[in-house]
Parts: sequence; structure tokens; C-alpha cells
Amino acid sequence: MEKLIWQKNRVAKNPRRGNSMHSQDLKTPSTEEELNVELRSFQRKVKRGYELERVVWLPGKKVRNLEGNPLDGEVKGNTVYVYSENEPVFTLKHEFCEYLLTQDKKPLMDLIAKLLAHIMYDQYRSSEELADALAQLL
Ligand SMILES: [Zn+2]
Repeated sequence: MEKLIWQKNRVAKNPRRGNSMHSQDLKTPSTEEELNVELRSFQRKVKRGYELERVVWLPGKKVRNLEGNPLDGEVKGNTVYVYSENEPVFTLKHEFCEYLLTQDKKPLMDLIAKLLAHIMYDQYRSSEELADALAQLL
């Protein structure tokens, strides 16, 4: 998950934030074990994503994506890595949902990849034949 502007807006509009509360109250005190309990609860609620085995919480760890943008979390293999210090539960929810969406798209992406490989191979064979035919005319 990338740090996006709308997330800051979302925090600002957080209904938990009352007049008597300090910004410190926005922090969700969590341990890695609590995050793992949360993961199990999400899996039970949506009956999906059981392949995700565990959460590793590395608060404040600076990890960037290929574009150089900082990540709040990511899924690698069967592990959800959470780097967010202040909102680890929200980050876990985001990564879990993003994982489910990616899994949902996977059959289509696999099909497109196979189709593309097939088209490129056909194109290559066609160009080879055409190059031979043209070469004979020269
Ligand atoms: Zn994301």
C-alpha cells in the first residue's frame, strides 16, 4: 500500500476523533499477535484468503515500491508485512482486501498472459515465413 493523500483525509475525518481527544488517540495500540488475531477474523468473515498464514509487523520500516513510493504494507508469499506505525490494523485490512482483489483477477491475468504469448509466437512464425518468402525474391 502506498501512502496516499486520501488516507490523510480519511484520518482527519475519523469519527473516533472527538474534541477531548489528542492526536495520540488515533494510534491503535497493537502487537503483532493482535494483528494475527485480526487476520484470522477477516478470513473467517469473508471465508477467503486462508492462504495468508501470518502477519509480520515491522513498525516504521522504510520500504519502497519500484516507483520509490513508501509502502505501509505488502504481501510477500503467504506473509502480510505491515510497516505502518500508527495504523497497523487499517494497513492490514487494506493489504488483505488488496490481496483478495488480486487473487480474484488472477485467472483473467493468467489468460491474458497465455493469449499474449500465443499471439506473439504466431506473429514470430508469420514474420519468419514472410522473411523467407521475401528473401527468395531478392
Ligand atoms: Zn495497496
